Amino acid sequence: MRVDVVTIFPEMIARALDFSMMARAREAGAAEFAVHNPRDFATDAHRMVDDAPYGGGAGMVMKPEPLAACIEATVSAEGAAVVLMTPQGEPFDQTRARRLAGLQQMVVVCGHYEGVDERVRETLVTDEISIGDYVLTGGELPALVLIDAVVRLLPGVLGNESSVHEDSFGDGLLEHPHYTRPAEFRGMRVPDVLVEGHHAQVRRWRRKMSLLRTLRRRPDLLARAALDDDDRELLAEILAQQVN
Ligand code: SAM
Repeated sequence: MRVDVVTIFPEMIARALDFSMMARAREAGAAEFAVHNPRDFATDAHRMVDDAPYGGGAGMVMKPEPLAACIEATVSAEGAAVVLMTPQGEPFDQTRARRLAGLQQMVVVCGHYEGVDERVRETLVTDEISIGDYVLTGGELPALVLIDAVVRLLPGVLGNESSVHEDSFGDGLLEHPHYTRPAEFRGMRVPDVLVEGHHAQVRRWRRKMSLLRTLRRRPDLLARAALDDDDRELLAEILAQQVN
């Protein structure tokens, strides 16, 4: 997958792409990254990328000409998504991450100031994504959140492919708790079932914990999850234990 980021703070993105899973995605040949600065496409003497809003008011707006030229010079693949990071966008989730991971190219546009000129949004953007109901100063941190979530889904990036499915939201539920050595920490013991190493029992315990966690923390997810008969049996057990 090719990932292009359009930003007036290219170093902020370039540095972060050199770490952890995003670096691994590049090394594995699963993702190719490039960062583009709309300022390089500004034609005026001061290479302006922002201007005052029509109608007055506080803040500046990202000018359409350099931003549009930068996006247009960047899109290369058939069916590429041009994703504008904006608090007004669709909430980002694992389903959207999976859909984007299936594309050949994703161009991520970072806004700044009051945002981008509306005409760029209307004509060049295919997707508008928000990472949550709060306002950040710029689209760079949201872009990195999006890119990390997408590239870790690309084949060959995570060492253990199954962890993509086992992670929270992989199958619509939150993941079970994890433990490592030592077997006892500050008087708290690792659950016996994990130490005994009976694979079927471990699988059952993990599924039950996953259901329990989701029930307690995110009942909205549980209501939408595709559950089978075994899950319903485990849920009945959980509910019976809570009553007793
Ligand atoms: N005036 C805009 C509004 O009220 O919708 C907010 C602009 S914000 C200060 C500047 C930029 O940060 C946005 O254009 C967007 O790219 C990015 N941004 C801020 N919060 C975001 C969020 N929750 N999700 C995605 N992008 C966000």
